[in-house]
Amino acid sequence: MDVYKTTVKYKNLRIDYEVKSFRLKDVFKISRSSKSNISTIKVSITNKKNRGIGECIPYKRYGDNLSQILKILKSNKNYKNIHQIKSLPLQNAISNAFYDLKLREKKIKFLKIIKKIKFISVVTIPIFSKVKFTKEVKKYKNIKYLKIKVNQKNVFEYLNIIKKYSPKSKIIIDANEGWAIKFFHKHENSFKKYNILFIEQPIKSNQDHLLNTKIPLCADESFHKKSKLKNIKKYKWVNIKADKFGSEQEILKAIKFAKKNKLKIFFGCMVSSSLSIIPMLRFAKFCNLLDLDGPLFLLKDYKNGLKYNGNVLIYNKRFDYGYL
Ligand SMILES: [Mg+2]
Repeated sequence: MDVYKTTVKYKNLRIDYEVKSFRLKDVFKISRSSKSNISTIKVSITNKKNRGIGECIPYKRYGDNLSQILKILKSNKNYKNIHQIKSLPLQNAISNAFYDLKLREKKIKFLKIIKKIKFISVVTIPIFSKVKFTKEVKKYKNIKYLKIKVNQKNVFEYLNIIKKYSPKSKIIIDANEGWAIKFFHKHENSFKKYNILFIEQPIKSNQDHLLNTKIPLCADESFHKKSKLKNIKKYKWVNIKADKFGSEQEILKAIKFAKKNKLKIFFGCMVSSSLSIIPMLRFAKFCNLLDLDGPLFLLKDYKNGLKYNGNVLIYNKRFDYGYL
């Protein structure tokens, strides 16, 4: 793949980028869309001796797109402050690349920052046929945390499959805004029959004011740097993803906001490579639960990428991030 040198700079340092395409093992279907490959942007920041790298995923739901990011990368600005960059995913990639560069300069191994190689992360099953879904549930039998993507179709049939084949699993249902408020309230009592930890973003983010329930909910599409957070207390959890908030400072701000408002932190990701996820492990200590299974869906990840064994995410210290 081609590496493009840019004329754009960050703190006087040159930025290079590559657009990378990753094929997925299966079609990743959620309530609003499906995909069989992803495009990521890998950026590197170089000074005389070192190079730091980062990745981001422009996500259509939040108004991001590849061409808008490439336009910024092809400009000839020298950004002194990361918040002048008018793209949150690109802020994230550059912020992580700069962090990496600093670690390499100071000869600090990333393991020294994260302090352990194993983390607990939720695993997700996207929308599949019932046959394939059953096969997946059997594979994960009695795993502690199982997240499922759903729309309004056959939700209870899928829940019954989990009840039958993986009864001990705590379930997270992610509707990705795919339910009508009527559908949610109509079925509210039925959800109580299942081992549900919380329901993630059942209805459209602009309908938060209509929510009135005792079932714990998690805000994902409703919790974004650009969102109005007037109704955020209707939720018990918030899903923080780097590409929704941008720079390290903004991620820390989101974490602080959640703590101050007694919202539990579910730290999430897009379908992405290990280069998106590994830098995020430095925030794990602030979170109640991680949802960092993005690379699990790729046919081929970066060399020495993350491995997953049920709910255990395993970091490989040979991964090219931080001082090696
Ligand atoms: Mg979600």
